[in-house]
Amino acid sequence: MMQFPATRQSALQRLEEFLQEAPRYAARRNHVLPGHPQVSRLSAAIRHRLITEAEVVEAALQRYPFRLVEKFLQEVLWRGYWKGWLEMHPGVWEHYGVSSGRSAGAGDPEVAAACHEVAAGRSPSGIMNHFARELLETGYLHNHARMWWASYWIHHCGLPWELGAQHFFRHLLDADPASNTLGWRWVAGEQTRGKTYLATAGNIRKFCAPELLERAGGVGLDEHVVARAGQAGDPTVDDLSGLPEFPNEVGLSDPERRVAGILHDEDLCLETSPAAPLRPAVVLQFVPEPESPPSEPRTPWLELARADAARRAGEYFGCEVRVCRTPEELIQACSAGKVESVFMMEPFVGPLRDQLGDLPAELMRREISLVRLRRKWDSVLLPHANRGFFPFWNKVGRMLAKSGAEGLS
Ligand SMILES: Cc1cc2nc3c(=O)[nH]c(=O)nc-3n(C[C@H](O)[C@H](O)[C@H](O)COP(=O)(O)OP(=O)(O)OC[C@H]3O[C@@H](n4cnc5c(N)ncnc54)[C@H](O)[C@@H]3O)c2cc1C
Repeated sequence: MMQFPATRQSALQRLEEFLQEAPRYAARRNHVLPGHPQVSRLSAAIRHRLITEAEVVEAALQRYPFRLVEKFLQEVLWRGYWKGWLEMHPGVWEHYGVSSGRSAGAGDPEVAAACHEVAAGRSPSGIMNHFARELLETGYLHNHARMWWASYWIHHCGLPWELGAQHFFRHLLDADPASNTLGWRWVAGEQTRGKTYLATAGNIRKFCAPELLERAGGVGLDEHVVARAGQAGDPTVDDLSGLPEFPNEVGLSDPERRVAGILHDEDLCLETSPAAPLRPAVVLQFVPEPESPPSEPRTPWLELARADAARRAGEYFGCEVRVCRTPEELIQACSAGKVESVFMMEPFVGPLRDQLGDLPAELMRREISLVRLRRKWDSVLLPHANRGFFPFWNKVGRMLAKSGAEGLS
């Protein structure tokens, strides 16, 4: 099996395997070990919804009492927290333009050269060079390594966080507009007022396996560095606009009506989604050209995951799955197939939503109705992400402890 599952089947297998270790997760998760045996390594599969958070949470709660796996569930919920927060603060995404290279310092050749060196693993710190290479080679970094590396980039090397976030976004298999942008903002001290994250040699020695440190040539951090002050409270953070609502259920589609489904990278499991009762004549898989080409490990991972999703959707709905590269191609395919109604899982704030652009308006212009769906999990839990993580967790954790996650998928 791949180290980072790229099909639904292998993600479910990895979940089963990981659950045997789940009660020990709280004590071991912060340690960075070769091969990362003590964490799930499911983030890319969850991010693209080969499996859903609801399935992961429900499987853990079927097997263990809540308190034994609480830390693991809490980490799974961090993802939804960031998603909900960014959805309610879309200006943060638009302003920083992490995916598009409009970020601070992008045009300065000196900054660009410094970023290039650190990103390629040619900096004064052995362990940070190791993580830089691990990211390029595997598309993955352990959470603690992401925090250390982002902190090194921002506070030790004095580089703009936006460019670091952009580098992560290009290379991570699990690249997610919310977790990545807000994770970097948090380390930079821009997400939570008064909080910045400084990587220290002591913390790295405590949590990094000695053999990794030895192989990497040691820590090599300047102990006198102090964290740069963040600018939490910039105007884009205050544009709380509420969470738009989308239906979580639809009835069986009218057999007389020609329906098409749109399948995309934000949700690669249409057959477990609210779209499951529909009977499309065709599924259109939206695979846009990326603004900047994704990295070596990310490209084959995404190809496998997309092919898996297309195969499952084709089998489940019993119809053809056709790839479309642009919104115009989607519209053409609908017009050519005399489609009267289209459904899709509503994408969250991020590049895919940006790339779909005027699709809803264009469909409407052609009198093709668009049904935008959202999983119950997102509709029920994400609106609580309007303050800090712990108020969020107090509400959603209590809900999950009481009722589990069944029915939220
Ligand atoms: C600077 C920075 C950038 C990050 N960028 C991303 C990103 O682009 N995509 C992404 O999915 N995660 C991101 N994270 C969060 C986290 O590092 C990864 O989700 C986690 O390391 C994935 O490994 P795992 O699946 O083995 O996690 P596990 O420890 O097994 O956790 C289980 C699941 O919980 C979720 N999760 C765990 N920790 C976090 C967290 N801190 N924030 C959000 N979700 C979490 C993930 O879905 C993960 O698969 C980032 C963190 C930082 C500090």
